[in-house]
This record gives sequence, C-alpha cells and structure tokens, in this order.
Amino acid sequence: MVVVTYDKLPPLTIGPHERVFVLTGAGISAESGIHTFRDQNGLWQRYRIEDVASPAGWHNDASMVWNFYSQRRAQAEEVAPNPAHYALAELEAKLENRLFLCTQNVDPLHERAGSRRVCHMHGELFKSRCENAKCHTPPHEDHGVYLTHETIPNCVMCGQRLRPHICWFGEMPFELDRITRELARCDWFITIGSSGAVYPAAGFVQEVRSHGRARTIYVGPERPDNAGHFDECRLGKAGEVVPVLFA
Ligand code: NAD
Repeated sequence: MVVVTYDKLPPLTIGPHERVFVLTGAGISAESGIHTFRDQNGLWQRYRIEDVASPAGWHNDASMVWNFYSQRRAQAEEVAPNPAHYALAELEAKLENRLFLCTQNVDPLHERAGSRRVCHMHGELFKSRCENAKCHTPPHEDHGVYLTHETIPNCVMCGQRLRPHICWFGEMPFELDRITRELARCDWFITIGSSGAVYPAAGFVQEVRSHGRARTIYVGPERPDNAGHFDECRLGKAGEVVPVLFA
C-alpha cells in the first residue's frame, strides 16, 4: 500500500474498455458545507444516532426523527456541488455506463452536478416512503419539512405515516445485488471521503480484492480505517484531488 499526498502520483489512465466503480462518502460533500458524521459541531453532534437514524428511534418519536431530517433537508437546499462532484459528472459523460457511481450520501449533490446514474445505497434525503413495509407504493420526491406529530403526512394508498427514504442503522442498504455485480467486474475501485467504518460499504474494497483484478485507490485527507486494503491512499481534499485524478 502506498500512502502519499495526491500531487505525488499521476492521474489514472483508464483503458477504453475498462470499468470504474466509485464509492463516495460524506467527505465528498464536506467542502460543499454538509457536515460529515464525525464533524465537531455538526448536526449529528446534537442528536444521538439511535434516536434519529434507527427503526427504534422512529417508533419512539417520529416527530424528532422528522425534525432531524427536516433540518438536513433545509441545509441541503442551500448548498452547491464542489469540483469533486463536477469531475465525477464529467467522468460519467466520458465513460457512460462504464462508470458505476455508488454513494453512501443521501444529499443530492451528485445529481446537482450533472450525474445521471447515481446509486444511492443509503437512500435519498428528498424522498419519502410509506412506513408500512407491506405497502408497495414506491418512494416519491418530497421537499417538505414535518416538524410535529400532527404535520407528518400519511400514505395516500394505505393511510400509514410517511417516513424518510433513508437506510437507517439496522436496515438493509438498497441495491446490494446490483452493487455486488459491479464490484465483481470493475477494473478500478475508487473510494472518496469515507471513514471505512460503516459496513457493508467499508467492506467493498475487500470484496473487489477477492476478485483479484481491480486497482484500489482511496482519496481523502486522512487514512481511512480500512486503509490496509487499498493499493494507494492519495491524501488530500476531494475537491482538489478528484479533478486531477481523472484529468
Ligand atoms: P464519515 O463521516 O464516517 O467519514 C467521513 C470521511 O470523510 C472521513 O474519513 C474524513 O477524513 C473524510 N473527509 C473529510 N473532509 C474531506 C474532504 N474535504 N475530502 C475528502 N474526504 C474528506 O462518513 P461515511 O464514511 O460516509 O459514513 C458515515 C455514514 O453517514 C454514511 O452512511 C453516510 O451516508 C452518512 N452521512 C451522509 C452525509 C451526506 O449525505 N452528505 C453526511 C453525513 C453522514
């Protein structure tokens, strides 16, 4: 494993038939002003994760959960993509479906930068869905803020409450079958701004290595917890490193 500041290594040379899997985490949105999980003074610091991001938290106090996600929606309405998001949108324009962009982020900054095919494995901040698992009404676009028990809307099909379309702790991430297929066939695996502490995403790099074909690269200001599984860690902020990486 090589750990160096990003300017010590050349851009990637992606072959004409090669496939690229990019996994992004909260770090890619940090320079846009959205706090990461671990940031001091962030929105997350004012809440206990289990109160606002778990099925038990929802059942105990749905108003508090909606209060938290309403604040995150309000914050996300005000922020703009940074050069890292734009560089990935440009990469998609070049590689088309040879790029698989998988994000752990629920913010819409990849789409705002122009990415069209984003796999949101942990859900989307501006979507809601019925809390009733047996109601098959699909998640829908929703920019509302719901701050009290009385203002939480109900599903138009079954009448139960709407919940954020977010994968909470203890729930199964979305699209794992598609992700598994893409991990098996990629030639490049690049993680950007993820601490390597939240599974299953933190284990993707090991899965890629078990197939023995892809080069694995991490981008972020510090070594992640799973650094030992990457061929290279290119240290620096996503907004500086990513445009150079794919230049
Ligand atoms: P994390 O908070 O655990 O780790 C963030 C990582 O980003 C850290 O390793 C940090 O070194 C790195 N980082 C900080 N500034 C950076 C920069 N400028 N450029 C590149 N990297 C930078 O986040 P995680 O690993 O994504 O996992 C936490 C969970 O919390 C995920 O499920 C994620 O969905 C969720 N989350 C999402 C958002 C969002 O949607 N924007 C925000 C906070 C948390």
